[in-house]
Amino acid sequence: MAVDSLGRPLRDLRISVTDRCNFRCTYCMPKEVFGRDFAFLDRAELLSFEEIAHLAQLFVREGVTKIRLTGGEPLLRRDLERLVAMLARIRGVQDIALTTNGALLTREKAFALREAGVNRITVSLDSLDDAVFRRMNDVNFPVARVLAAIDAAAEAGLTPVKIDVVVKRSENDGDIVEMAHRFRGTGHIVRFIEYMDVGNTNGWRMEDVVPAREIAGSIGAHWPIEPVEANYFGEVAERWRYLDGAGEIGIISSVTQPFCGSCTRARLSADGKLYLCLFAGTGHDLRGLLRGGADDETIAAAIRGRWHSRDDRYSEIRAEATPIEKVEMSHIGG
Ligand code: SAM
Ligand code: SF4
Ligand code: SF4
Repeated sequence: MAVDSLGRPLRDLRISVTDRCNFRCTYCMPKEVFGRDFAFLDRAELLSFEEIAHLAQLFVREGVTKIRLTGGEPLLRRDLERLVAMLARIRGVQDIALTTNGALLTREKAFALREAGVNRITVSLDSLDDAVFRRMNDVNFPVARVLAAIDAAAEAGLTPVKIDVVVKRSENDGDIVEMAHRFRGTGHIVRFIEYMDVGNTNGWRMEDVVPAREIAGSIGAHWPIEPVEANYFGEVAERWRYLDGAGEIGIISSVTQPFCGSCTRARLSADGKLYLCLFAGTGHDLRGLLRGGADDETIAAAIRGRWHSRDDRYSEIRAEATPIEKVEMSHIGG
C-alpha cells in the first residue's frame, strides 16, 4: 500500500471525466471566465474510458478501494455507465460514487448507473429557493429539476442520497435551516460545505465563508443535534445527528477546521494528470506515460513515487501558503 511522507495511505481516487459543465456556479466556474472563448480540453486530450479504467486499475494496485466520478459535470460524458461498468469489474474496487449537479440525472439514467455499479450518489444543490438557486448556478436552472433528480436517485436505490450545499455568506446562508428542514426524516444526508478558495477565478474572500460552527449552531437552534463518530478514517464530513431521530447532517469544514491529516485522496484530471491536493498548482502527466507505451509497472511506480513524496496540506497552512496558480475545481472535480 502506498503511504505518503506524512503517513497517509492512498485510498480514494477522484476521477474527473470532463472539464466542461452545463452550470456556471459563481463559486466554481464564473461566467466571466468560463465564457464562450474559454479553451476547454479537446476530445483527443480527454482520457478515453479504456484509458481511465486502465489507470484506475493501477491506482487500485497501489491501495485505492474507492472511486468517485466527478467533473465538470460527469453526466455530460455520454454513456458514463459504460465507464462505471468497466470500473466495477476491477478487483479491489469496493465503492463507486458519483457527484453531479443533477441536471441530467433522469430516472432512466439513475437506474442505468446503479445497474452498472454506482453505489452512492451526491447531488449538489445550493438552495431550495428557486431565485437563489438560479442565481448561483447562473444558467437559470430551476430547483425543481434537481429535486426530481434526487428523487430519481432514491428510486433507483442509490440511498442515502447525499446533498451537497456550498454555503456562501449573503448568498445562501439564509437557506441553511430550510435545507435541513426539507431533508429531515427523508433518509437523505445534507452536507454543508464551507466555501473554499479553490482555483484562482472565484474571487474567494474569507468574509464569504460561513464557519462550520455557525452552520451547526443555526441548525441546532431549531433541532438539537449531537456529533457522531466518523464512519471511517479520512471521512471529510463531520457528522451530526438530530436528537429526535430525524436522521443526520454533515458539515465539511475545510477552511476553519482542516482535515489534511487524514487526506487519503488522489485526483485524476480529465486529461490524465495526477493531482495530490485540491489546491495543487500542477499535476503529474500519466496520460503521456500511457500513450507513450509505458508498461504497467512503470506507470504504477510513477503513481507510487508521487504518492510517497506527497507532503501537501494546503488547508492547514493556508495562511502562510505562498500564492500559486492553483488548478480549477472544474478541472479536478473537488
Ligand atoms: N458538477 C458536479 C457537481 O457540481 O456536483 C461535480 C463537480 S463539482 C466541482 C464538485 C463539488 O465541488 C460540488 O459539490 C460543488 O458544489 C463543489 N465546489 C465547487 N466549487 C467549490 C468551492 N469554491 N468551495 C466549495 N465547494 C465547491
Ligand atoms: Fe459545474 Fe459542479 Fe462547478 Fe457548478 S460546481 S460549475 S455544477 S462543476
Ligand atoms: Fe487533502 Fe489538500 Fe484538501 Fe488538505 S488541502 S484535505 S491535503 S486536498
